[in-house]
Amino acid sequence: MNKKQKKVLKRIIISIILLVVIAILTSESLAFSFLSDNRWVRLVLYLVPYMVIGYDILRKAIKGIKNRQVFDENFLMAVATVGAMALGEYREGVAVMLFYQIGELFQSYAVGKSRRNISELMDIRPDYANLVVEDGTSQVDPDEVEIGSIIEVAPGEKVPIDGIVVEGTASVNTSALTGESVPRTVNIGDEIISGCINMTGVLRIKTTKEFGESTVSKILDLVENASSKKSRSENFISRFAHFYTPAVCYGALILAVLPPVVRLIMGLPADFGDWIYRALTFLVISCPCALVISIPLTFFAGIGGASRAGVLVKGSNYLEALAGVKHIVFDKTGTLTKGIFEVTGIHHSTRENDELLDIAAHAESYSNHPIAKSIQAAHGKDIDKSRVSDVEEISGKGITAKVDGRKVAIGNAKLMELYSVDYKECHHVGTILHIAIDDEYAGHIVISDVLKDNSKSAISKLKKIGVEHTVMLTGDIKSVADYVAGELGISEVKSELLPGDKVLRVEEILQSKPSKEKLAFVGDGINDAPVLSRADVGIAMGALGSDAAIEAADIVLMDDDPLKIAKAIGIAKKCMRIVYENIYFAIGIKLVCLLLGALGVANMWLAIFADVGVMVIAVLNAIRALMVKNL
Ligand code: ADP
Ligand code: MG
Repeated sequence: MNKKQKKVLKRIIISIILLVVIAILTSESLAFSFLSDNRWVRLVLYLVPYMVIGYDILRKAIKGIKNRQVFDENFLMAVATVGAMALGEYREGVAVMLFYQIGELFQSYAVGKSRRNISELMDIRPDYANLVVEDGTSQVDPDEVEIGSIIEVAPGEKVPIDGIVVEGTASVNTSALTGESVPRTVNIGDEIISGCINMTGVLRIKTTKEFGESTVSKILDLVENASSKKSRSENFISRFAHFYTPAVCYGALILAVLPPVVRLIMGLPADFGDWIYRALTFLVISCPCALVISIPLTFFAGIGGASRAGVLVKGSNYLEALAGVKHIVFDKTGTLTKGIFEVTGIHHSTRENDELLDIAAHAESYSNHPIAKSIQAAHGKDIDKSRVSDVEEISGKGITAKVDGRKVAIGNAKLMELYSVDYKECHHVGTILHIAIDDEYAGHIVISDVLKDNSKSAISKLKKIGVEHTVMLTGDIKSVADYVAGELGISEVKSELLPGDKVLRVEEILQSKPSKEKLAFVGDGINDAPVLSRADVGIAMGALGSDAAIEAADIVLMDDDPLKIAKAIGIAKKCMRIVYENIYFAIGIKLVCLLLGALGVANMWLAIFADVGVMVIAVLNAIRALMVKNL
């Protein structure tokens, strides 16, 4: 409990004690019974606990009236309780305030607790780093470790900062980041990201980032800030409250005035007190606490549950959109395929194959594209970056660079056309990398990629959960694209696209579909940032360690398993289901109670219990959104 909550708790306890004391003092059987005979004495007595428990609500209500934002919960509570006191229902007046405050305390406690729980459940925040110093290691705050320092991570410890392994091998558990429990092995020279847990050997790591820039900090930031992006359902609640509160206030007013007047006209006694009491009960019942609290809490729990499964959601609006996804557009390379190309042939080379590969690997040495990484792997030898200069990556086409002072262009047919180089077609199936050296054609390298193990089941699972329209957009050549799409059962495929063409195609789909059906784009975050941001929901996968992707996407899948897409949608759907359950449940109970109150069946006690009860149930229901294991 924080300070503010403790203070409210203290006020609650004091006012309960005061209420008990007053009840004893005014009880008939005691000598002080004269106290209970005098209305004014009792009013003064009850005003003490009333002010103790309710002064802040009254203050906020008055402030609201001054700011011309009259109708809010504070106003409802103030009118209802002041009215009850004026009618001589002192005990009810104090009780309503008391239970309202207990309810508020419970919700702020529940929200705070689930926030903390989520960070704890993620359990990735490192508390310290073991900095390697001259005579061993010293334990320091991860914030203090500079880039390029060497840190040591013993078995059982969390990796606090991103870096490269310089000593030792170990198997590391990434489950807190990815939701996957299969351990990964890291060796000297491998990148390692913060948040993993070292399970076996001692590792020494040279840090490549500061703590604040490391994966673990980024993820925590993201989860903690997610609640600031409001979903439509949340906005609905504030819009709802906007007309709802005035409506119930006027309703209460009518209830207090109209029936007595009608009775007077009919020649009956007016019973003003009775009807005003009913009107006040009506006000207490109408307080929309359960809705106001449970909906943001559900989203919060949903986002927390998703992050435990390795799905980072940047705002509840994206969770809501994800639940309504009916169209999914995929990038190919690195998303549906592994993005690990193997060289399957080198043709028309004007020099030794090895030399061509060496030049290609150098030209690609600054690129992060899967093709570039694969060429370097196929080359297999050390890269001397001093031989390379003037690198320019031409998105969707390839790369140009100076290698040993010669101008090298490497990429697809479009790139060759760009430099008017006469290239030779290739008749093998695969991705073709044409190479030109000093604007002369120097041959091509055929590379091919393999499908990810889960791509096929991912697509069929998506179809099963209602995503009918799947599209693959790729910059790769038609033969490869058609083969992949056919193999996976993707319904639409477009190939040889530039990143800009992908945006256009996505826009076409966006325009032709009903706006209720949402479109998601799934990419690996390499050169597809424009599409990621254009889609209703941009999903980046395998994004561990790629800051650009984490930044551009709305939803980040921590590992590169395409099955996670269906899982993410499942989580979103469950969360939305709970949101609607709570909306219907809370509004339904409210309506029943309002009716009972108007008919005079429900009194203020029932009203306050119904309100707190609905809220507790709605909050407990909201917490279910955290549980995402079997989706
Ligand atoms: P995808 O849509 O499959 O992700 P990209 O848009 O990233 O593909 O790239 C499209 C095509 O552009 C590739 O198939 C390749 O022919 C060429 N290309 C892109 N980047 C490079 C690079 N770094 N080196 C060589 N070719 C490249
Ligand atoms: Mg790509």
